[in-house]
Amino acid sequence: MTQKQTTHSESDSESTTESPLETARRQLRTAASRTDVDDGVIERLKHPTRVVEVSIPLERDDGSVDVFTGYRAQHDDVRGPYKGGLRYHPEVNADECVGLAMWMTWKCAVMDIPFGGGKGGIVVDPKDLSDDEKERLTRRFAEEIRDEVGPSRDIPAPDMGTDAQTMAWFMDAYSMQEGETIPGVVTGKPPVIGGSYGREEAPGRSVAIVAREAVEYYDERLEDVSIAVQGYGSVGANAARLLDEWGADIVAVSDVNGGLYDPDGLDTRDVPSHKEEPEGVLRYDSSKTVSNEELLELDVDVLIPAAIGNVITADNADRIQADIIVEGANGPTTSTADTILHERGKHVIPDILANAGGVTVSYFEWLQDINRRTWSKERVNDELESAMLDAWADVKAEVDARGLSWRDAAYVVALNRIGEAKEARGLWP
Ligand code: NAD
Repeated sequence: MTQKQTTHSESDSESTTESPLETARRQLRTAASRTDVDDGVIERLKHPTRVVEVSIPLERDDGSVDVFTGYRAQHDDVRGPYKGGLRYHPEVNADECVGLAMWMTWKCAVMDIPFGGGKGGIVVDPKDLSDDEKERLTRRFAEEIRDEVGPSRDIPAPDMGTDAQTMAWFMDAYSMQEGETIPGVVTGKPPVIGGSYGREEAPGRSVAIVAREAVEYYDERLEDVSIAVQGYGSVGANAARLLDEWGADIVAVSDVNGGLYDPDGLDTRDVPSHKEEPEGVLRYDSSKTVSNEELLELDVDVLIPAAIGNVITADNADRIQADIIVEGANGPTTSTADTILHERGKHVIPDILANAGGVTVSYFEWLQDINRRTWSKERVNDELESAMLDAWADVKAEVDARGLSWRDAAYVVALNRIGEAKEARGLWP
C-alpha cells in the first residue's frame, strides 16, 4: 500500500493526504503549465523508467532467516546516470521511491548537475538490526541490485536509516563482485575510501548560501537580520553556524524536544548539534525556551525549517511572521500553506534549490572517484559556492522575468533543462 504523508493538516478545508508520488506529479503538472515543454515529454516524465523490487534474505544473529523487500526506482536519466538515496525504513514502498526519485530529477536539473533521479531502500526498521545484520543485509541488497547500479548507471547515497558506513559496505560488496575497486558506485562514503571532504556539511552550507543571497535580494544586510532554525541536525546546525559566522543573529534553534529563543542571539557553537549530543539543544543555558510550534511563528526576518516535512500547514501559515522562508528540510511546506504564504507576500525558497548542496557535493565526490583525485575541503566549498550562485542566478532570472514564486521558478528551470535534453536526444526508436 502506498504510504500516505499528510500534506494538509486535519483541519484543512481540503482535508486530503498526498503520497510523495502524487506530490511529485502535481508539481510536474504545475511546472508544465508554465513552460513550453512538449506534452509528450511531460507524459514521459510522469512515469519512472523502471522500478526494481528484490527479495533480500538475511541470516539473523540467532541463525534464523528473514526475508526483506528492497526497491530501486529510476525516474529519468536523460541528463546522466540516476542519483539518489537508499533509505532503510519500515514504510519504504515502490510509489514513495518513485516520487522521491522524481524530486531528485528536478533537484539535479535545477543545479545543472549531469545526473537524473533515483531512490531506493529496504522495508526495515534499522533499529531492529544489529550492526552485523545491517552489514549482511546491505551486502546482499548490493548484490540483488548490482545490475541496476554503477558509476555510469545509477549511484546511490545515504538517506534515512543509512550512513557513510552503509555506503562503505555497499561499495565493498559491489567492488568484490565486479573484481575491482569501484568507489564511484555510491557517494557519501567515508573520505578514506573515496568520500569527499565537506559532504556532511554541504546541505547546511547550501541552505546558508541561499539564505544569504535571499536576504541580499530583498535589500537587507545579513548583519541586520534575525533567523530562527527548526531542527539542529546536519542541515540546521551547519546552516545556523555559518550564518552566525557571517554576521546574522540566530535567535532561535530547536530539536525534537523544543527550542531556545534569545532575541539578542544565541552562540551557535555552544549549542550542541544532533551529531555532537543527540537532542541536547535544551541543555544550553538560554533566556527562554519555546515549543517547535512557537518557533515557527516567531517575529524573525528569516525562518529555516530544517527538521522534518509538513510543518508549515494551512493551520499556521497565517501566523508565520518571517518574510523569507528557506526550506532546509525536504517538503516542510504543504501546498495549501505555500499558497497562503505566497498570497501574504512571503518568499519561500524551495528545498530543491536550498538543500541541493548535498547532491552537488555528491557529484563532486563522484568526479573525484572517477578521476582518482582528492579535492581539499577548501576546493569543495569554493566549487559548492559557485554552483549555488549559478543555480540561484538561474532561478532568480525566472523570478525577475516572469514574477513567479521561487518554487515555481525553480521547477521551470529544471523542467526546461530536462525538456531541452529530451528534444535534443529524441525518442528512440
Ligand atoms: P538529522 O537527523 O541530522 O537532524 C534532525 C534534527 O531535527 C534533530 O535536531 C532532531 O532533533 C530534529 N527533529 C526531529 N524531529 C523533529 C520535530 N518533529 N520537530 C523539530 N525538530 C525535530 O537530520 P538532517 O540530516 O539534518 O535532515 C533534516 C532534514 O533535511 C530532513 O528533512 C532531510 O530529509 C533533509 N535533508 C537532509 C540532507 C542531508 O544530506 N543530511 C540533504 C537534503 C535534505
